[in-house]
Amino acid sequence: MKPTKSAMARAARERGERTFMATCIRHGEQSHYASTRACLLCQSERNAPKNAAAAERYRSDPEYRARWRERSTTARRKRRKDAEYREAENAKEREWRSHRFTNNAEFRGRKREGVAANNWRKATGGNMTGWYGLEREALQQKYGECPEGFDMDHAIPKIAKAVQGKQVASGLHCWANVIQTPRAVNNMKRTQFNPDNNRLQRPANQFPGGAFDPTPTEPEWSLIKAAAEDLKSVVNIDGVEYVADVIPGTPVEVCLAVLREALEREALAYEDHVAMIEQKLPEC
Ligand SMILES: [Zn+2]
Repeated sequence: MKPTKSAMARAARERGERTFMATCIRHGEQSHYASTRACLLCQSERNAPKNAAAAERYRSDPEYRARWRERSTTARRKRRKDAEYREAENAKEREWRSHRFTNNAEFRGRKREGVAANNWRKATGGNMTGWYGLEREALQQKYGECPEGFDMDHAIPKIAKAVQGKQVASGLHCWANVIQTPRAVNNMKRTQFNPDNNRLQRPANQFPGGAFDPTPTEPEWSLIKAAAEDLKSVVNIDGVEYVADVIPGTPVEVCLAVLREALEREALAYEDHVAMIEQKLPEC
């Protein structure tokens, strides 16, 4: 059963959103106010005569105009002079923003992605890829959906170094290079470029040597063997040891099947993303 508009409005308010999408009999799929459940277009049509009359009066009635100007000057003056009032207003705004940040994945994604893009520009001094404008919404969604305990990170670091410390690659701020990383791992701040061991640093394709190539990498093989032989599964990636989350005694074939399935899922997600971009590309 479809939820009622009241229920949808309540859910939107709980998420900290001012509007929600619903069907209007006159306007179809439209934004509605979470406070009153009214369709935005219907409401603005209802308000139009009143607003037009007020605008006309503002233009033609000097006394009315002066009164309005006086009102906004008073409010501004009060904000400037009354520190307590100003702080109370700021606190309300901060609380609203933090509520929205916690409850609204879209808002959170926009903010986080914006910060990450800025950091990328600062660190590299570079320009965004030509796809950035087309990918941005999908990137924001990724950042917004990042669960608690994880960070979004660049698979190939912004400034990626070889073992000797020389910069050998620049990871782009793009959909294929932005990945979810457990915070504990991200805090180790790895900046190394090692595509032999780290498949996330390979090109996003299913060919041999690509990110979605189903042949296990070295660390993956050591995981699979450890699981099969009931050993403590510690994987060494770029000199950092990870205790891996595997079930001891798992047959090699099962591990391989799980790996293939996971890679298949990632490959499909990437192909869907590329198809979405191609739809947005202007016709040549
Ligand atoms: Zn409407």
